Amino acid sequence: MATEAVPPPLPLPNLDDKPHWDGLRRHELLIQKCADCGALRHPPRPICHACRSGRKEWVKASGRGVVYSYTIVPQATHPAWRDKVPYAVVIVELEEDVRLVSNLEGVPNEQIKVGLPVEIVYDDVAPDVTLPKFRVRK
Ligand code: ZN
Repeated sequence: MATEAVPPPLPLPNLDDKPHWDGLRRHELLIQKCADCGALRHPPRPICHACRSGRKEWVKASGRGVVYSYTIVPQATHPAWRDKVPYAVVIVELEEDVRLVSNLEGVPNEQIKVGLPVEIVYDDVAPDVTLPKFRVRK
């Protein structure tokens, strides 16, 4: 029986994170910054976790960091990922001291370890959607 490819679920930007997703489309990693106390936060939120200010701005992050934690997903949670298991989901701690949940490309799962230096790669998965993924930094 032939099976049709199922498209993966894609992010739906909202008022809080739209600048982040727009930046990714331009291949820029933008992180939300409190316009009052300067705290960086990710994922984007309407209120600062440090001072409760609602004022915000966006700063361009380096895209460099290290694997903070990871897990190997052994079973597809969506039909689009059926052929990708087992795959790694990583938490990357950026040099700017914020963390992103992402995927690590080009590394066998058994070689992934905490502290592995990584850098962002921009995966243009649809005409209007780019996902931040990571590869080992050279
Ligand atoms: Zn603040």
